[in-house]
Amino acid sequence: MITYTCDGCGKTLNRHDLRYTVKIDVKAAYDELEISLLDLVRDHRAEMLRLIEQMKHKDAQQLEEGVYKNIQLDLCPACQRAFIRNPLRFHPEQSAPEPSVDVDAFLRSLGMGKRPEEGDQGGERG
Ligand SMILES: [Zn+2]
Repeated sequence: MITYTCDGCGKTLNRHDLRYTVKIDVKAAYDELEISLLDLVRDHRAEMLRLIEQMKHKDAQQLEEGVYKNIQLDLCPACQRAFIRNPLRFHPEQSAPEPSVDVDAFLRSLGMGKRPEEGDQGGERG
């Protein structure tokens, strides 16, 4: 049986339980590239060699993460509510109360995340 673990609180989530995924891209941000005449005549080869020399003895993972890092999290509904309230200082225990609307039932009524027992019976919900 496929299970997931909530990255917030550690709760085990079964395959068909409502869970949320968070995908975060952390990347170096620059304003629009502006190329001047000076850039065109600069010795790029020498500059590249100098940079390679500087990076030779650095940690590859650290260098890579300095440019781009993708983070993916699985969250249970309670942790999702806590996360969207405060993504930068997320603590599972700060979750908002459960919504009065059953989000899971609503999403499933739209055909998302069918449970195996709901499989091919069809017409159950009219
Ligand atoms: Zn959780």
